[in-house]
Amino acid sequence: MKPGRVYLIGAGPGDPGLLTVRGRDCLRAAEVVVYDYLANPLLLREAPQAETIYVGKSKGLHHLPQNEINALLVKLARQGKIVARLKGGDPYVFGRGGEEALCLAQAGIPFEVIPGVTAAFAAGAYAGIPLTHRDYTTSLGLFTGHEDPAKKLSTLDWAKLATGVGTLVFYMGMSNLDTITRELIAHGRAPQTPVAVIRWATLPAQQTLVAPLCEIAAVVAAAGFKPPAIIIVGEVVALREQLSWFDRKPLFGRTILVTRAAEQAGEFSAMLQDLGAQVVECPTIRLDPVADSTGLDAAITALPDCSWLILTSGNAVRFFFARLAALGLDARALGRCRVCAVGPRTAAALRTFGIHADLVPPDYKAEGVVEALVPRLQPGEKVLFPRADKARDVIVSGLSGRGVEVLAPVLYCNTLPATLPADALAALEAGGIDAVCFTASSTVENLYTILGAAGFHRLLAPLAIAAIGPITSKSCTKLGLPVAIEPAEYTLKALAAALVSYYSA
Ligand code: SAH
Repeated sequence: MKPGRVYLIGAGPGDPGLLTVRGRDCLRAAEVVVYDYLANPLLLREAPQAETIYVGKSKGLHHLPQNEINALLVKLARQGKIVARLKGGDPYVFGRGGEEALCLAQAGIPFEVIPGVTAAFAAGAYAGIPLTHRDYTTSLGLFTGHEDPAKKLSTLDWAKLATGVGTLVFYMGMSNLDTITRELIAHGRAPQTPVAVIRWATLPAQQTLVAPLCEIAAVVAAAGFKPPAIIIVGEVVALREQLSWFDRKPLFGRTILVTRAAEQAGEFSAMLQDLGAQVVECPTIRLDPVADSTGLDAAITALPDCSWLILTSGNAVRFFFARLAALGLDARALGRCRVCAVGPRTAAALRTFGIHADLVPPDYKAEGVVEALVPRLQPGEKVLFPRADKARDVIVSGLSGRGVEVLAPVLYCNTLPATLPADALAALEAGGIDAVCFTASSTVENLYTILGAAGFHRLLAPLAIAAIGPITSKSCTKLGLPVAIEPAEYTLKALAAALVSYYSA
């Protein structure tokens, strides 16, 4: 049997983008991933091939005992597995990675350690606090604040560290914050020394409290702050006033429900996350290729007779080229047929298949397509419009009314999921969502069907409703939801910008 191997990987502090490239490569190579409470589960997307084993806290209960985790790693490696042991932050900083590595070394199991961005460094960076600065401090210490009640804080030499170290960072110190601050003051640290407590650093849920050493414990208690949080003590904390950037992002602190079809949500979500928002994805439609493609295939065969191909979404582009490929064809099947894309996103999707759209109407919707194409078509000409099963009738009726023959086979179908994803429903029920974005009428109508009229109104009425354009807005109003946010241009980018102006108003 091939020998197994264990990669002790630092997952970083939370933001999945802070995993190292080496860490990602090891996850991609893993057969099993053993992960912790503080390792962002989104990182598991890097290891779809692997079995995953969660060894973190569940519902407040403490994790699998450390000796059992050690034994698990040894057992898996002895089965010949490539094991990714994913730990929050850095594996060797207060993460018991040292114990796991010793256990592997003693068992003779090959292992590698991939460092990660530790919480102290991440919290400093994302809260706008340089942990060292020539004018303020030349030393930095990392300490454990021992949340484990079985251990005593008295293992720290307060007399030495209170004045001997410039910047002090405490991990796991929340339940002992009062003791920590009192000991530091009692041993000579100035009571006015600024302190920052940063919770869920680097994630959209990041929260920061700043107060003098003599007051911070009371401030934190009053705010009901809970772990995980990092405590930074030192003059450098004052720099946050000038250097904070993460929590100044325009959508920081907002939680936004994104209702696009699962296949397309990623890009829009990334856009909102970049603006600082916390995104909860809630697909309301699943897109499937048409089950019976006879009509579609016949229309594709007729392509040489068509003067235009009309595609009205990125999905239409992807499903269309997928069907061409299934038929053993490619972009050359278009021959001299020109291509109309409903908007810039659709045009961009076309470019990934090597097609430059001949026409993108100035008005990015079906009406715009009709208006732009009418002067370019003679009666009797043929166009191909492969469409979604629930597409509006505008293009077909608009063009055939001018004597144009419109081939409009169904290309893909919208399927309604039976329920919402559990995390989205829980967030809605808990009042944890600020705004919901609708990017098509179907997303509104589907959500209505999935939640039922009563649930739809109860859960969505308190939210800010954002719709991509007037048609989607109308569908919202028709179902009793007043729309607060609607961009002038019907694009995702414009919708994101409209959310920003709504929240900065
Ligand atoms: N190995 C980890 C630390 C594990 S100990 C690392 O290198 O970061 C767990 C403690 O880390 C928590 O109690 C908290 O103090 C800190 N921590 C981890 N992730 C954090 C985050 N995103 N924000 C704030 N503190 C965090």
